[in-house]
Amino acid sequence: MVHFVGAGPGAPDLITLRGKSLLEQADVIIYAGSLVNPALLEYAKEGCVVKNSASMTLEEVISVMEQAEAEGKVTVRLHTGDPSVYGAIREQMDILAEKGIAFDVVPGVSSFCAAAAALQAEYTLPGVSQSVVITRMEGRTPVPDRQKIADYAAHQATMVIFLSAGLLEGLQEELQKGGYDGQTPAAIVYKASWPEERVCRCTVSTLAETAKTQGIDKTALILVGEFLGSAYDRSLLYDPAFTHGYRQGKRK
Ligand code: SAH
Repeated sequence: MVHFVGAGPGAPDLITLRGKSLLEQADVIIYAGSLVNPALLEYAKEGCVVKNSASMTLEEVISVMEQAEAEGKVTVRLHTGDPSVYGAIREQMDILAEKGIAFDVVPGVSSFCAAAAALQAEYTLPGVSQSVVITRMEGRTPVPDRQKIADYAAHQATMVIFLSAGLLEGLQEELQKGGYDGQTPAAIVYKASWPEERVCRCTVSTLAETAKTQGIDKTALILVGEFLGSAYDRSLLYDPAFTHGYRQGKRK
């Protein structure tokens, strides 16, 4: 059996209990070496075969899984954050299904959640934004039409931009083209939850300059929106005058 496991954002104690337990049982671990904190591999049992997928093709990854399966072994495919976000797991699952190899998926704490924690921020502030757009700049990987940064910027929703730390000149241009004011608050969170985590607050128009000064060009998330500002409405859920299924509101 193959288990796709979300490793979490970096800190070894931010993996789920289920993920940790599978790492402890695994006979073979294939981990995404460019991003997964190697400290997580310390959960592996003695004799476990550990492969770094950074230098492997999809075919090579599948072939390791296939061989392990033939020997009745337990394989963990360890992906950073949550496997469903830019994890390239669909293509692996489709091939495994075709080959009749059983698999399951264990979710993880995505880096966008760890970034909010590092910022001590809430993405969905009442009166500010009730939507979070997870996206990326177009780089060598194309982004479909109508899903470009400028298209989403027009909504003024909270934006979490992955895989784009090296493309910030273009990013800040696209954000402004789409309608964000240059003064809109923004942040760069580098290696959220790792010991070397860094949080840089800036504005849309100073993203590139801030990253350059800080020497950040990878393993970072870019956060954009007024959720990083100071104004918001109180939640209705905890408003004394608001009645809902679990509480009777009191008139002021
Ligand atoms: N599945 C992962 C994302 C993989 S794509 C997740 O859920 O987080 C890789 C990109 O994720 C990086 O380029 C970077 O933008 C972001 N990333 C991954 N780990 C990060 C971390 N600890 N801190 C900040 N950004 C991170």
